[in-house]
Amino acid sequence: SVRVRFAPSPTGALHIGGVRTALFNYLFAKKNNGTFILRIEDTDQSRFVAGAEDYIRQSLEWCGISPDESPWTGGEYGPYRQSERKEIYQSYAQKLIDEGNAYYAFDTPEELDAMRDRLKAAGVATPHYNAAVRLTMKNSLTMPAEEVAAKIASGEPYVIRFKIDPKEEVRLNDIIRGWVHVHGSTLDDKVLMKSDGLPTYHLANIVDDHLMKITHVIRGEEWLPSAPLHVLLYKYLGFESTMPQFAHLPLILKPDGNGKLSKRAADQAGFPIFPLDWQDPETGETSKGFKEEGFIPEALVNFLAFLGWNPGTEQEIFSLEELSNVFSLEKVNKAGTKFDLDKIKWFNQQYLKSTNPKALAEIVRTDLKNHYAIDSSLETALVIVDLLKERVTFPHEMAPNALFIFRNPTEYDQSVTSKKWNEEAEQAVSLYAEALATKESINAEEAKELFFSLMETNGIKAGKNMQALRMVITGAGSGPDLMAIIALMGGKAVAERIKYSVD
Ligand code: GLU
Repeated sequence: SVRVRFAPSPTGALHIGGVRTALFNYLFAKKNNGTFILRIEDTDQSRFVAGAEDYIRQSLEWCGISPDESPWTGGEYGPYRQSERKEIYQSYAQKLIDEGNAYYAFDTPEELDAMRDRLKAAGVATPHYNAAVRLTMKNSLTMPAEEVAAKIASGEPYVIRFKIDPKEEVRLNDIIRGWVHVHGSTLDDKVLMKSDGLPTYHLANIVDDHLMKITHVIRGEEWLPSAPLHVLLYKYLGFESTMPQFAHLPLILKPDGNGKLSKRAADQAGFPIFPLDWQDPETGETSKGFKEEGFIPEALVNFLAFLGWNPGTEQEIFSLEELSNVFSLEKVNKAGTKFDLDKIKWFNQQYLKSTNPKALAEIVRTDLKNHYAIDSSLETALVIVDLLKERVTFPHEMAPNALFIFRNPTEYDQSVTSKKWNEEAEQAVSLYAEALATKESINAEEAKELFFSLMETNGIKAGKNMQALRMVITGAGSGPDLMAIIALMGGKAVAERIKYSVD
């Protein structure tokens, strides 16, 4: 059965590209009645960032992408944190050494730098530690066995390198990219075990994918160059028959299509790139989160699903469950996909309309209280939500747009005052104010009735003066249903408002 994993390294905040990878893994698992695993890849201690793992967990929880197996949920194949699996990797590195597919290397950082400088001077663009170079370096292939043993016994630092045969031909058939061909001669004898006794990403990742019975590796395109090395590791570790299938997801590009979406690009353009607000524990620097900016998780998820995938139909609005039913890797594109800010706002607006009105009303009440010292009942807030939810992109735009309900206008729409305001308009609104003054409670239908019949009796065209009426009540020339506003404010308050504005 299908088993996929999302394997973030806790080296900082999980950005939106990571969430997309998690989502695609999740959807693929759900579609195939499979299992979605979350594994924390924390073997690089120099890049470990405190709080990053919690952040990953909270972000995915907020998005509704929940793993079936993880450090937090547990599972049959744990532990799910690589730092808790140290001993496991050791034995696989030893197996590679014993079978002649890996070797000890004692080169110091200075010696490695000197090697690279030498090769660069000779015209090699990207110097590798490979079959030719390894013969000139300090490793167990160039030293007598006793010397190697003595060095290890004396505690001299060493790494274990993968011995790549330059005649090797690597082929892999990526579900999204198609066939990828690579010659062993272009690969590096990658370090598998570091001098601190911990595995590198490459070794730990392959060993864990094997032991956790991963069937499909779905990850970002930036890992494609590592894939041939991984194929060779599967081969030499003896895991070839259960090697997972690869699917490398297309790059996410900046909104203008120029280059990869980055935190810097997001910061400069003022849009979030992280699910939740993030404060860097080292620099103290803060970055914006989609959550705090007022994005709805379902909208973000729907938007992310379309970053590189499409259903092949016109339908755009999908719940997580619907996505789980229709998702397929075959419909994922190769080409990079633009992060379109207008599109995610559009999704947010769509989802706002169907968000639980009570939850939105609570946001309105809190905002009115905190930012404007206005107390609003839940009832009033619910009407505000009803009036405004189709007219805004974010929940937090509602309170500032509802202030006219509670406060007299401080300015009036210029185009209305110049075009629609005249003696007749003044007469119309004043008559209406008089009639409303005695009507504490009035519904929208009655408010409308009253206005139209009053105008008819007085020989005034109602339609012609509607905008003026709106302006004296709200200050604006357009907005949500005016009669519903009158009903919400109550006849008396509207009468007072009109009087205030006319005077
Ligand atoms: N730990 C790697 C990362 O941070 C995982 C890459 C993979 O999925 O193989 O993205």
